[in-house]
Amino acid sequence: MSVNIAIDGPAGAGKSTIARKLAHEMSYIYVDTGAMYRAMALYFLQNKIDSGDEAAIGKACGTVEVSIGYEGGEQQVLLNGENVSGQIRTEEVGNMASAVSVYRAVREKLVELQQQLAANENVIMDGRDIGTCVLPKAQVKIYLTASVECRAKRRYDELCAKGAECSLAEISKDIEERDRRDMNREISPLRQAEDAVLVDTSDMNIEEVVSVIRGICKEKMA
Ligand code: C5P
Repeated sequence: MSVNIAIDGPAGAGKSTIARKLAHEMSYIYVDTGAMYRAMALYFLQNKIDSGDEAAIGKACGTVEVSIGYEGGEQQVLLNGENVSGQIRTEEVGNMASAVSVYRAVREKLVELQQQLAANENVIMDGRDIGTCVLPKAQVKIYLTASVECRAKRRYDELCAKGAECSLAEISKDIEERDRRDMNREISPLRQAEDAVLVDTSDMNIEEVVSVIRGICKEKMA
């Protein structure tokens, strides 16, 4: 049986950085489920489908193909066969992903793909509903969080390092809005699974977080 490690938490808590590092260290496959929601969102943006038009979104879900592959150990997301891994990393796509991830049609399609991946491989999967819904039997569940101020500052520094022009206040507002939507949606809202271990990363650096989670994995898998 494959080993599954679920890492959930709000945007900017450091899930992907930590999950990628640990997966590399443990020779597990890293599955970034947010990238799948982003790929769907990109499709809706490209095809000018309104985020409020549930019927059009449901219809599109029947035809759009999202899949993932790996290049040099890095997850690549394919949208109808095209690699869109670079294009999905914008604030516009992130906000659209958050808006359309409330719909059952979108979630059912992606959850099925995620469960298939985890059935055959040892995975570290990050997202919002992995411990509560996608992999309820995961051997290790972590809920990673940090204060809004801290998550906004990290995102701001990341964007500035890439040379992007951005405002800390705008980013803070976006994060709060996304938290609100992710935590309050009807289907699979973001919340800590009962058997998940809470890790608040506000005052920790990446190495400290990796070390804490490594310890939790060791303990749970012993
Ligand atoms: O993690 P990331 O910011 O890339 O995810 C983008 C959006 O996709 C999230 O704000 C959330 O609304 C949605 N998402 C989700 N369930 C997941 C992963 C992401 O609803 N498992």
